[in-house]
Amino acid sequence: MTSLLEHPRGAEPGKPGDRSAFYFEQHTRLSDSPNGLGKNGARYGRTGVIHTPHGDIQTPAFVPVATQAAMKAVLPESMKQLGAQCLLSNAFHLFERPGEDVLDAAGGLAKFMNWDGPTFTDSGGFQVLSLGAGFKKTLAMDVTGLKSDDVIADGKERRAFVDEDGVTFKSPLNGSLHRFSAEISMGIQHKIGADIMFSFDELTTLMNTRQYQEESIERTFRWAKRCVAEHKRLTEERLGKPYQALYGVVQGANYEDLRRRAAAQIASLDFDGVGIGGAIEKRIIGETCAWICDAMPENRPRHVLGIAAVDDIFACVENGGDTFDCVAPARCGRNGAIYTRHGRYNVKRAENKFAFTPLEEGCDCYTCTHYTRAYVDHCLRAREFDGFTLATIHNERFFVKLLDDIRASIDGGYFEEFRDETMAHYYENGSRG
Ligand SMILES: [Zn+2]
Repeated sequence: MTSLLEHPRGAEPGKPGDRSAFYFEQHTRLSDSPNGLGKNGARYGRTGVIHTPHGDIQTPAFVPVATQAAMKAVLPESMKQLGAQCLLSNAFHLFERPGEDVLDAAGGLAKFMNWDGPTFTDSGGFQVLSLGAGFKKTLAMDVTGLKSDDVIADGKERRAFVDEDGVTFKSPLNGSLHRFSAEISMGIQHKIGADIMFSFDELTTLMNTRQYQEESIERTFRWAKRCVAEHKRLTEERLGKPYQALYGVVQGANYEDLRRRAAAQIASLDFDGVGIGGAIEKRIIGETCAWICDAMPENRPRHVLGIAAVDDIFACVENGGDTFDCVAPARCGRNGAIYTRHGRYNVKRAENKFAFTPLEEGCDCYTCTHYTRAYVDHCLRAREFDGFTLATIHNERFFVKLLDDIRASIDGGYFEEFRDETMAHYYENGSRG
């Protein structure tokens, strides 16, 4: 069998990427189950398969984040072994280094990092725009706005400025000035070569005014149209490459009417899938997904960008999310926070110094079947990279398996029982996140 890493589907010398290599195949709908219809019938949860040039993704699926084309102390081989189906990298970071030309010359993101499977890149919009204001990710439209905008972090310099055409920002690496726009983001993402890309959108926060949110979704819609046009042009121009799918991103913060309007706008364009993005209020995260699914054709896969907590994952799966990326398992793991079925704990607590037991009893991951809490605690305290490796492997396995189990529960017709039982155990000790 030929490796998809070397010979991705739908790539032929001298020809544009074959779009038919990317499609979503729906299996079981939650609403097909005997008591499937939830509140207002808005239950979009489902299982399926996203077919991509570099392989299939069984959904719902967890997408680990390899920000700079690396999992920080865990090799792609280990990610494969723990069951990860796909990885997401960040277009902005790869643009900063090593530069998209290096990835293009290497044969694309997957080949560059020796990952034999599907990959995603986000558009860079989030990173570029979150340079705006230090910690609160707020933006200024122009200098006048900047002067009267009091939500910038104290002592922070605003580094990103939005205009109709795109965003100007100062590089956090070296302070030089750069531009990002729909066309620039598409050019970078095409060269990076992930199977699934996102359109360049404007990130807003829950603190922005309603008027600003309205202007922002209209601007994001105009950028989305430009992304689709540039994506088609690049697909035709870059011959011999596998087809890269493009997802449109729906913004609109916590306003139902804006989310619905943005979803209808994105649904009207020729995207391959949809990204549910931006600031979402936790309390209405499931409803937000459902509002968007109301407008989306069923054959387009739905990705929820940057999700964090176990309860959020259940809410989003139930309301139509197919894939979910999150940096938390790796980032928290490096700080010693360990996810288990009974909530999160910190392995660096004193009682683990002599705990010659696994991070989680019964876990099938490489860490838990070979190492002890005492050893992981020691490595993390000594700042040995092995501690990062071991904690990350366990935490990533936790989320990969959670989504695998959710998928089985939807196919098996016991999603609600599984959800209630899992949530009861996970939050029984007051775990946050
Ligand atoms: Zn484990």
